[in-house]
Amino acid sequence: MKFTVTSRGDDVSNTLQQRIKSYLLEFGLTHDEEAPEMVVTVGGDGTLLQAFHDYSDRLEDTAFVGIHTGHLGFYADWVPDEVEKLVIHIAKTPYQIVEYPLLEVVIRHEGNVNSERHLALNECTIKSFEGSLVSNVEIKGDVFEIFRGDGLCISTPSGSTAYNKALGGAILHPSLASIQISEMASINNRVYRTVGSPLVLPQHHTCLLKPLNDVDIQVTIDHYTLDHKRIKSLQCRVAEEKIRFARFRPFPFWKRVKESFIRE
Ligand code: NAP
Repeated sequence: MKFTVTSRGDDVSNTLQQRIKSYLLEFGLTHDEEAPEMVVTVGGDGTLLQAFHDYSDRLEDTAFVGIHTGHLGFYADWVPDEVEKLVIHIAKTPYQIVEYPLLEVVIRHEGNVNSERHLALNECTIKSFEGSLVSNVEIKGDVFEIFRGDGLCISTPSGSTAYNKALGGAILHPSLASIQISEMASINNRVYRTVGSPLVLPQHHTCLLKPLNDVDIQVTIDHYTLDHKRIKSLQCRVAEEKIRFARFRPFPFWKRVKESFIRE
């Protein structure tokens, strides 16, 4: 099997990265940074997010597994003390694959027929550079509301524990192929009105955001920030692609939620 190991870049993660690499080579696996079948990340959820983007063009052929050198992560749920066990699992045992849904974002520009397509593992956010964002929110082809406020966040189920949670969104189990729209400080008064609650859309519903005011728009896709002069629309839906995680032992999602946010 072809593998690679990525690191957050700090000393602890780099040392562990080298150890895992030599163990796997000793087991006869092949190191291949270009086309790995297994990507082991060492660091945190942010490290796995980066690895996802590095290999997003070969998701069907790649399985991910994350080790955390800091706090327990949602994607990085192995601890450094378990590295020997994990390496033997990778080298010797057939592993189970668990697939999580992704978000597809298509950005269309004013006066340009070309569009940009992105995949997000956590979320996409849209904000204006100056003042409020004013945007039509269309769901399944119908105008649902005109949003006025700081911005909107559209998250995947596995991203629901990240930015979305800080915005008061619900935590969704990653087996639910869906996207969640949550508001950032919407203006609600006699003139402007939004639903004010996070919305969860199923796989077959598309959300189309059409900014109405003449402002520069900032779009984030996970940890990447894209600056745009004028956006005609931003279309979000559940992507056809999925991310594949290698599972070597059960670690139920709700147990991870409890250990991350309540107590160990
Ligand atoms: P960062 O600002 O350095 O760290 C963001 C934090 O979110 C880190 O502690 C990271 O965990 C954690 N995280 C990432 N994905 C998560 C997930 N699915 N569930 C729970 N926690 C998660 O930024 P970054 O490391 O480049 O990550 C980018 C992410 O930051 C974005 O996708 C967004 O979700 C999140 N973010 C959150 C807020 C907020 O909560 N107010 C604001 C902006 C962005 P690790 O420490 O394990 O890497």
